[in-house]
Amino acid sequence: MQATRFALEQHEIPTHWYNVVADMPNPPLPPLGPDGKPVGPEQMLAIFPGPILEQEMSGERWIPIPDEVREIYRLWRPSPLMRAVRLEQALGTPAKIYYKNEGVSPAGSHKPNTAVPQAFYNRQVGIKRLTTETGAGQWGSSMAFAGQMFGLEVRVYMVKVSYQQKPFRRSMMQTWGAEVLASPTDLTQAGRGILAAHPDSQGSLGIAISEAVEEAAGRPDTNYCLGSVLNHVLLHQTIIGLEAKKQFEKAGDWPDVIFGPCGGGSSFGGIALPFLADKASGKTPNLRLVAVEPTSCPTLTKGAYAYDYGDASGYTPIMKMYTLGHDFMPPGIHAGGLRYHGDSPLISQLVHEGLMEAVAVAQVATFEAGVLFAKAEGIIPAPESCHAIRAAIDEALRCKVTGEPKTILFNLTGHGHFDMASYDRYFSGGLEDYEYPAEAIQESLRHLPKVD
Ligand SMILES: *Cc1c(COP(=O)(O)O)cnc(C)c1O
Repeated sequence: MQATRFALEQHEIPTHWYNVVADMPNPPLPPLGPDGKPVGPEQMLAIFPGPILEQEMSGERWIPIPDEVREIYRLWRPSPLMRAVRLEQALGTPAKIYYKNEGVSPAGSHKPNTAVPQAFYNRQVGIKRLTTETGAGQWGSSMAFAGQMFGLEVRVYMVKVSYQQKPFRRSMMQTWGAEVLASPTDLTQAGRGILAAHPDSQGSLGIAISEAVEEAAGRPDTNYCLGSVLNHVLLHQTIIGLEAKKQFEKAGDWPDVIFGPCGGGSSFGGIALPFLADKASGKTPNLRLVAVEPTSCPTLTKGAYAYDYGDASGYTPIMKMYTLGHDFMPPGIHAGGLRYHGDSPLISQLVHEGLMEAVAVAQVATFEAGVLFAKAEGIIPAPESCHAIRAAIDEALRCKVTGEPKTILFNLTGHGHFDMASYDRYFSGGLEDYEYPAEAIQESLRHLPKVD
């Protein structure tokens, strides 16, 4: 029988994360404050612990993973690398298709890979409580789980509309002992301001971030955690690609192209950056690393490479990244995790410099790909993951035309068990494709902050 599962033993969980900054052709640009000067660590220490800030700015290639973190990782890691032979057969392609299954974590996605170390470093510096925001609930559940592992209180500001529409994500967070509030709340100035102006506000990720940051900045025992975009988040996620490299060695194979869904860029960075080192050093110069985003939120494919705020209200430092403008309003698509106006500065720079690529795919086609995958391989993917599956299937179908037996790897970032309402909409024909109009992008790009 042909092997389709390339597993590692628990003792093979990597001992270090990989920091791509050490191998980038040009150093990354620092985030800037309102005065146009690089933001100093003092301002950030109000909401982040020192060890996380050190990682955020580090140029060291390898950063040790604390034993306590590896012990928690053991609950689901190493995650399996699978070869999707039944999908290959269904497509009739000469290509080999592999996927790294990050849906096996307790929260059901890759997000605990960073939630666990973030909780660990906060406890290490004596923090007792963590705040964060969540939209669809993937990040909030991951933080709730991680906080529980290290005995920290977690308060999650959940966008009100999701709080009402995704009650089971909320119960999941409560099971792990977190407190979940429908944002906007009347507990913060940011929340009270919104409620005064819009008593019926359904909330937004931008408002929830403002509430969580405000609370953390105002209490010495409390810090804030972010689930994507920042350098330290991508660093923690490199465990995905580092494991995948060991697994490909066992499989006696190596990818020609890697696809990952891309919202803020953490899981894509996680799978792709460890392979980028070999591409940059000339060992595998032709390896392609492709970020896949929705046509409704085409940050890397249609945005500008410019300094912009990380949040909607202009509260955060500005970062050089691909952006659609911080006041860009994404339409209500079903891949909630891919609706961010910006992207990781590291991924943005690597795309800008031509070391990585990006493609955009339409919503209906992503669900079509997800259902095809579920029928062949059994696993029901998260709507975000369906974006990478679409791109992988398209590549495999091109191989069918050309006869090339390429090796394709994609990141199965999560399962879709809490997203079945979205599948329902797809089955009933209620889903639409939406291409963000170029004029609307031009309009929101007019509001970018001015930088000399
Ligand atoms: C959050 C999420 C994403 C997108 O976030 P990135 O930071 O770009 O990885 C992708 N897939 C799943 C399942 C998610 O929960």
